[in-house]
Amino acid sequence: MIIIMDPQATVAQISRVLRAVEEIGFQPRPSHGKNGTVIGVMGAGDNARLRELASLDGVAEVTTMNTPFKLSAREYRPESTIVELSGGRLGGDDFIVMAGPCSVESHDQLFDAARAVRAAGAVVLRGGAFKPRTSPYSFMGLGEEGLRLLLAAKRELGLDVITEAMAPDQVALVAKYADIIQIGARNMQNYALLEEVGRIRKPVMLKRGMMSTVEELLLAAEYIMSNGNQQVILCERGIRTFETATRNTCDISAVPVLKDKTHLPVIVDPSHAVGVREYIPAVARAALAAGADGIIVEVHCNPAEALSDGAQALTPSMFADLMETLRPIAAAVGKNMAGPQEG
Ligand code: PEP
Ligand code: MN
Repeated sequence: MIIIMDPQATVAQISRVLRAVEEIGFQPRPSHGKNGTVIGVMGAGDNARLRELASLDGVAEVTTMNTPFKLSAREYRPESTIVELSGGRLGGDDFIVMAGPCSVESHDQLFDAARAVRAAGAVVLRGGAFKPRTSPYSFMGLGEEGLRLLLAAKRELGLDVITEAMAPDQVALVAKYADIIQIGARNMQNYALLEEVGRIRKPVMLKRGMMSTVEELLLAAEYIMSNGNQQVILCERGIRTFETATRNTCDISAVPVLKDKTHLPVIVDPSHAVGVREYIPAVARAALAAGADGIIVEVHCNPAEALSDGAQALTPSMFADLMETLRPIAAAVGKNMAGPQEG
């Protein structure tokens, strides 16, 4: 259920309703927006008593939500959530490009890629320190050493950093180093992990599971948000279909669907969606044209030597070319290409 307050409702009237919701045994989650306050009602209890709150002063409507997801729903919070980054506002008018290698492999490999993506205009550096690999015999990442290198690159180059946490007991460590914590596709329904990142106060990028629906993605976001962390970024990274020409199938239509159904920022990962270097720039451009708030792209200075995902790594010059072709599309769809901090 949600309680929609009159746009003119006073603070006292809102407080009165919040108390009443608690008295009936539910948990109120107010969202204060430009057009007034909407109170999400969480928990299970006596819905009839809840409906009676419609008679309280300042209440416009008590209504059932039409969607199984609640805190992430645009119905509950019409205004877009903005994740403030040092390079721009994700979810607002800015188009945010995150780029870097699949894995952090060494100091020089990371810094070379970081300098290249920064020079081309990326504002967030990506790089995995803890890698979820399909085979247990593949490179697993440098662990904390990788996190230290990411932080060093952030300090030297003024980029925000995104990196993955794979298990609940890694979250505090990753949060010490990263600006955005990534939850990978394979972990989209790792509920203990979602709850743990729900308890921290740093942005979380939640990737869509490769066999998950949009609704399941939003319900996974609810696990994070209902634990208190509202800074959730959703990422379409391709889903499994019968098609084998690409690594996955980029569900580009998920972008307008998500932008309609949720107030959370939406980005696309064309690298894992497509998996084939040559086809990635076109899908990156499609993401921007479809209304995404950003992209996350893998870039490596020497893809042939990459320890993971070399086939989908853009070279620095391919990435720089992509950035130039994004600019006119951004202008056409009313987005501003964010750039790295000066200095
Ligand atoms: C990644 O971004 O490094 C990654 C492993 O992606 P995904 O979880 O989408 O497979
Ligand atoms: Mn990868």
